[in-house]
Amino acid sequence: MSSWEELIPRPRSHFIRVRCPDCGNEQITFDRATTEVSCSVCGAKLVEPRGGKAKILGEIVAVLD
Ligand SMILES: [Zn+2]
Repeated sequence: MSSWEELIPRPRSHFIRVRCPDCGNEQITFDRATTEVSCSVCGAKLVEPRGGKAKILGEIVAVLD
């Protein structure tokens, strides 16, 4: 039973290292980013905010707790 965890979201989040699918650049971001994160090299969108948990568009190469 873990449904209560969904009803009461905990502010647990991680820094993640994301690789840009377009140019391969890696950069550190936040898995609960509230603003769009773009690749610092080519400008491709890497993270899209989705009400709480961000949608990661790039490839997650590492999770930094
Ligand atoms: Zn890029």
